[in-house]
Amino acid sequence: MERFIGSFFENEKIEYFASTAISAEYIAIPRKLPPYAKYVTVFLIPYKSDVADRNVSYYAVPRDYHFYIKELQKRLCDFLEKNGINEKAEIFADNSPFLERKLACDLGLGFVGKNGLIINEKYGSYVFIAEIATERKIDLSCGKKTERKECLGCGKCIFACPSQCLGGKDPVASCMSELTQKKRLSPDEAELVKKHYLVWGCDVCQEVCPHNAKAEKTPIGFFNEKLVAHLTKDAVSLMDDTAFSERAFSWRGREVVLRNIELSDIL
Ligand code: SF4
Ligand code: SF4
Repeated sequence: MERFIGSFFENEKIEYFASTAISAEYIAIPRKLPPYAKYVTVFLIPYKSDVADRNVSYYAVPRDYHFYIKELQKRLCDFLEKNGINEKAEIFADNSPFLERKLACDLGLGFVGKNGLIINEKYGSYVFIAEIATERKIDLSCGKKTERKECLGCGKCIFACPSQCLGGKDPVASCMSELTQKKRLSPDEAELVKKHYLVWGCDVCQEVCPHNAKAEKTPIGFFNEKLVAHLTKDAVSLMDDTAFSERAFSWRGREVVLRNIELSDIL
């Protein structure tokens, strides 16, 4: 099992992973945990692509990563079957039963910065966290671990945050990422979105972080293809429904994205 799963990750170009027995300290939502699950393997998915000009957050430049997770789940099941491994294995990301950041940090894949994000030594904070729940132990001793253990505490992320929502500066302020997704904006919020350099999401606390200065681009094919980095009114209006539904910014509908573009005066 160990070497088979290790080679699965190698094929997928996933380097940072580790497994452990599932214990109460790692569970956020017990009802979401499959009844057979006794072990969890946590892994990092780097997503930063090589785009020079963009007006959406890095995570939204490729197709929605939930499509990647779906494809990965299928490849994992095929892989187990092909290698004669009788094991139930379910991949979780985002909507997970696990305390993902705690799990990833405790198992040595990164550390949490003052910006609240997990930071990895190679890919910086431009990573998604995902898990595989299994019944048997997958001892992934070949996964890399991050050497650095702590954020520098420089506070650049807090100082640069455009909505002042980091570090308790303004306890009621919303993150720009949330504001760009909101259906209705107050006049003050609309003003913030208007001044913001992205029409979807916010990467400011990542871009100013010294740990991200040399963050490497993702080696994973999915995050380097079908890229949409710059949104205009025409680009959004002309996307057919299928293409639009594949994007991370689709879940709020076209109107919200178009409103943000209008506010940013990108016509
Ligand atoms: S994503 Fe932007 S608005 Fe949100 S905490 Fe980071 S810098 Fe602040
Ligand atoms: S900008 Fe500084 S304080 Fe903020 S997460 Fe990065 S190293 Fe830590």
